[in-house]
Amino acid sequence: MDFELTQDQHDIQRAVRELAASFGNDYWAEHDHDHRFPWEFYDAFAHGGWLGIQEASILLEEVAASGAAMNGCSAMHLTIFGINVLVKHGSEALRAEILPGVVDGSLHVCFGVTEPDAGTDTSRITTTARRDGDSYVVHGRKVWTTKAGDSQKIVLLARTSPRDDASPTDGMSLFLADVDRSAMEITPIAKMGRNAVASHEVRIDGLRVPAAARIGEEGDGFRYLLDGLNPERILLAHEALGIGRVAIEHATEYATQREVFGRPIGQNQGLAFPLAEAQTRLDAARLMARNAAWRYDNGLRCGREANMAKFLCADAGFEAADRAVQTLGGMGYAREYHVERYFREARLIRLAPISQEMVLNYVSQHVLGLPRSY
Ligand SMILES: Cc1cc2nc3c(=O)[nH]c(=O)nc-3n(C[C@H](O)[C@H](O)[C@H](O)COP(=O)(O)OP(=O)(O)OC[C@H]3O[C@@H](n4cnc5c(N)ncnc54)[C@H](O)[C@@H]3O)c2cc1C
Repeated sequence: MDFELTQDQHDIQRAVRELAASFGNDYWAEHDHDHRFPWEFYDAFAHGGWLGIQEASILLEEVAASGAAMNGCSAMHLTIFGINVLVKHGSEALRAEILPGVVDGSLHVCFGVTEPDAGTDTSRITTTARRDGDSYVVHGRKVWTTKAGDSQKIVLLARTSPRDDASPTDGMSLFLADVDRSAMEITPIAKMGRNAVASHEVRIDGLRVPAAARIGEEGDGFRYLLDGLNPERILLAHEALGIGRVAIEHATEYATQREVFGRPIGQNQGLAFPLAEAQTRLDAARLMARNAAWRYDNGLRCGREANMAKFLCADAGFEAADRAVQTLGGMGYAREYHVERYFREARLIRLAPISQEMVLNYVSQHVLGLPRSY
């Protein structure tokens, strides 16, 4: 194992850092405050050819660490990993139709899996796709569908046969459907943070999807989704690391400059040690994330490492953001100083795309060999 970045990777890191730096913290604070999608940022990365990049973990960590945090990453990460199922399992014709637009940034694709009554337990989805001649007709409800309001396409999971307790994850199919507002009602959800990128409730009533837009075989959709979970976890882990980095950067700068009782607050070990501990935890979590990415890139099994990386990085990123808020005292709570935004956005990675509890369930069962608890 050699996690040292290659010269090419260093070059990528530097180029992303420079481009992301042209969108400063104030840009992100304004877009978050105004709930405005960061089109200028998205277009700059699309035109720079960054959306089809292989080194996505380096890209997303640098984007997060620029101060863009989840607002910047979520604007583009669905394009990078959400489309993985199509790349791996879509028909030649579907790939040829969709991928060029995804890579040049002109086509936005959202990801409709979660439903009001089916989050962690995907097998409980009730959205149905009924075959009708050369197409399917979809009815149901999705929730938290990020970017649905700005997307032309949706990767949609629907039941094509009823749930069977003996094999609950069979019978679900994946489609690359049009976001067709004549059959869909799309409503943004008011949420805690990452407000430049909206997530939506989507009600679907009679959406027609051509059979040719089905991804892979009917009934195997869940199996295809599983393929994308490890890369998604690895990328989110790197996003958490980026947020932790920028939070500590702000905190140490403030702790060096701010004087209380006639000396810089960073001179107090009560303040310095938690920051030093947060940095230590970030560095340790990074090793697991790099290990997971390295295994994935080398075609090795990486479920254990990807899950552990997402768990450790989500916690390390959030702790760093929390310590940054504490370091800035009252100003940590003021929007002007940005760390409250990092805090709100870092919190998300403990919940989604998979919760910390479900990671621990995975480790209990698949690493420790304990009986499945649910
Ligand atoms: C901002 C945001 C954006 C999102 N974007 C998308 C998107 O684009 N597309 C999409 O499909 N989804 C999206 N999601 C949904 C996200 O993937 C789900 O929220 C997540 O999978 C958890 O599902 P849930 O919210 O229904 O929680 P639930 O399944 O209701 O779980 C609630 C809590 O119970 C815990 N829990 C449940 N079962 C167990 C158990 N057996 N053991 C221990 N703990 C358990 C969970 O860990 C969780 O903490 C998004 C969510 C958010 C917040």
